[in-house]
Amino acid sequence: MHDNKNITLHAPLEGPLLPLDQVPDPVFAGGTLGDGIAIDPLNDCLHAPCAGTIIHIARTRHAITLRAENGAEILMHIGLDTVQLKGEGFTLLVEPDSQVVRGQPLIRFDLDYVAQHCTSLITVMLLSNSDQYRLLPCTTRPVTLGQAVLEVEPKAAAAKSNTGDNAGQTVRGRVHIAHQGGLHARPAALLRQTAQGFKSRSELHVGDRVAPLNSLVAIMGLGVGEQDEVEIVCTGPDSEHALKALLAAAATPSVGEHAPASAAVQLKPKANHEAGVLNGVCASPGLASGPLARLDGVRLPDDPGNNEPGPQHQALDAALSAVKAAIDADLQHLKGKHGDAAEIFEAHLALLDDPSLVEAAHQHIEHGIAASHAWSQAIDAQCTILKALDKPLLAERANDLQDLQQRVLRALLGERRELDLPPSAIVAAHELTPSDLLLLSQHSIAGLCMAAGGATSHVAILARARGLPCLVALGADLLALAPGQVLVMDAEQGHVETAPSVDRLHEVELARRQLAERRKQQQAAAQVSARTRDGRVIEVAANVASASEAADALTLGADGVGLLRTEFLFLDRHTAPDEQEQRSAYQAVLDAMGERPVIIRTIDVGGDKQLDYLPLPVEANPVLGLRGIRLGQVRPELLDQQLRALLQVSPQRRCRIMLPMVSEVDELLEIRQRLDRLAAELGISERAELGVMIEVPAAALLAERLAEHADFFSIGTNDLSQYTLAMDRDHAGLAARVDALHPALLRLIDLTCQGAARHGRWVGVCGALASDLLATPVLIGLGVSELSVSPPQVGEIKARIRQLDTSDCRAFSQKLLGLASAQAVRQACRDFGIREVHTRTSTLTTEQ
Ligand code: PEP
Ligand code: MG
Repeated sequence: MHDNKNITLHAPLEGPLLPLDQVPDPVFAGGTLGDGIAIDPLNDCLHAPCAGTIIHIARTRHAITLRAENGAEILMHIGLDTVQLKGEGFTLLVEPDSQVVRGQPLIRFDLDYVAQHCTSLITVMLLSNSDQYRLLPCTTRPVTLGQAVLEVEPKAAAAKSNTGDNAGQTVRGRVHIAHQGGLHARPAALLRQTAQGFKSRSELHVGDRVAPLNSLVAIMGLGVGEQDEVEIVCTGPDSEHALKALLAAAATPSVGEHAPASAAVQLKPKANHEAGVLNGVCASPGLASGPLARLDGVRLPDDPGNNEPGPQHQALDAALSAVKAAIDADLQHLKGKHGDAAEIFEAHLALLDDPSLVEAAHQHIEHGIAASHAWSQAIDAQCTILKALDKPLLAERANDLQDLQQRVLRALLGERRELDLPPSAIVAAHELTPSDLLLLSQHSIAGLCMAAGGATSHVAILARARGLPCLVALGADLLALAPGQVLVMDAEQGHVETAPSVDRLHEVELARRQLAERRKQQQAAAQVSARTRDGRVIEVAANVASASEAADALTLGADGVGLLRTEFLFLDRHTAPDEQEQRSAYQAVLDAMGERPVIIRTIDVGGDKQLDYLPLPVEANPVLGLRGIRLGQVRPELLDQQLRALLQVSPQRRCRIMLPMVSEVDELLEIRQRLDRLAAELGISERAELGVMIEVPAAALLAERLAEHADFFSIGTNDLSQYTLAMDRDHAGLAARVDALHPALLRLIDLTCQGAARHGRWVGVCGALASDLLATPVLIGLGVSELSVSPPQVGEIKARIRQLDTSDCRAFSQKLLGLASAQAVRQACRDFGIREVHTRTSTLTTEQ
């Protein structure tokens, strides 16, 4: 249902304002399309005038319609006669059906290009269902971006009958929340994401309290615990489907956020009675010593009040966009590497879009409060709600809000964070946040200590994932310690020693060295190539996205780069990298790998990874659309440029080119011909090998034919799972089921290896399955001879390979092909591991 309330429309552009009847176009001026206003723009990006849903985008990207929460449909048309530009000069920044917040950038356009090729830049904003609403102008002067320009009031009669296409049944259902810890940030984000998949409006009811399912803070604010009963209410055209999906999402347990698996874990610290000892709670085990360093939050300058709202709205919107862009960039790096961290930062992105939070801040601004204070107050209010719930897990989620409070404040105040930490510092703070941890992990710190905080907070999860000792709830005394003071932290025992003796420091240092020695031995073994017990060499390469990651991988023992995702060069910038820049970047990766081979995958954008400078048509099913090698067919110049850069790196014998998303032989042949033509043009005779990713079922089924022309295969199990199982690889609710150990995938891998073997080609795996220790015997058994894994896992995977025997693996993997589910395969893999250890132990005993 629409809420029938008045809404304010804010200027989507800045520039002089014109009444509609002065627009030099009779269709707009005559009001045929609806009532509204026009702006002659001075800036190049159209922003959302209010929060709402994108209900239509012109194919040619020059016009967009948004439905506000009161049902008003706002059409914005950039320039006059711009349809004839066929999309040239316009870059879409949102997708159809997406929810947008007020001020969110919608379409970027090339001012000069549009001005030169069209009648006018005058941009119209009108209500396409204006028969149901009254428009009350707020201003007639030139407007700044985000300034209030119109009030939209539902007409009384319309209010009664206004059910629009959002009409439909209201349906409701009750469910017990199965998520461990209740509806904290990640399960709340899952419900929100599920609700977003439907047109209906959905709400969560608990007693007499209600939260709209588009707001993470509102959901968390209800304080719903594990096994609490809630009611879900959906209203709209697809309400029944929405309800079914939401009930299932609420009733399916997700992987919880576990406290550290330490027997010594306590949830409450011991009192600080002992001199020289601060007691806290272990959030991540480990023993460390080092000088204390403080990390403090942003100090908010005083607000004189009475601020003009327009610029403050703008400043807040700009800061929110900047933080979102920064989180997006972090996510590119974290995805596929640190799953937990990626999920946490995805929840942060959802919080930054949260209508309750953002609207609350904008309302404070309307009262003359500075953007920094408005944002701070909006966050503090939500933190107070979460902390008052008497649910520790939810109270700890206030830490995520504080993280965003700090990040946005820093963006607003223009503060850059540059840390100057002594080596092996023990970092102390009132409470650290996930983004602090991301920043700190770029320095060589020894441990983390917090005066407040909890063992199940996101920052604790991240510390555990990085093996960094972490203590929380140490109390305010921690903050009285002087920077530089040398401490010992024994996280497992839950305490900090503030005045350790020299002997104690030696003892800790000795323990630290012994641990480092063990790691060194593992690493030394990682430098040697991995052979199975019967002598078969399996190459363990690394998946990397830059030259510095390649250098790290080499240090960790990688036998080569099995997948260089070249997207790293193309994302987060406004123009494409030219041939020379690409050539240097690829050469740097080759140089970083010494004498080892490097597989470079051609650009795999499209789908959900869009580039500002490469506008592609809006697609209903982007992952089934123009992505991977298909992009080379629609934008051949882009692929040619990349191929030219690749042909010029040296030595060519160490460079292997790999094509993503190939689904038929002709695609491969076409690229071979292109490479021949480009090499001839460049006068180059040496030629890199050309391989194909097997990540579409069609490619696996055609493996034998592809192997006639490909030099090698590398199986992309991430996409192969997505396309074989028809499950979105990024769908939070399906994450546990998108399992590459599904027998259907194993059959495809088997077919791939058989097809390759017929033509003497080798097969690698570069999807996440290659880094899964349970899968190592299966893949070797099916005939894979190269595993490309995340760099820190090289040593572990090599150690596993050395325990295996090829013929055992072969017999075992053949049996798995007959199983019925991924679960059954996983169980069989676990049993195989146990059986093998027994066999090896008894063989050793007999041999002795
Ligand atoms: C894959 O799909 O398994 C793969 C390695 O490619 P990406 O994850 O980059 O799509
Ligand atoms: Mg892929």
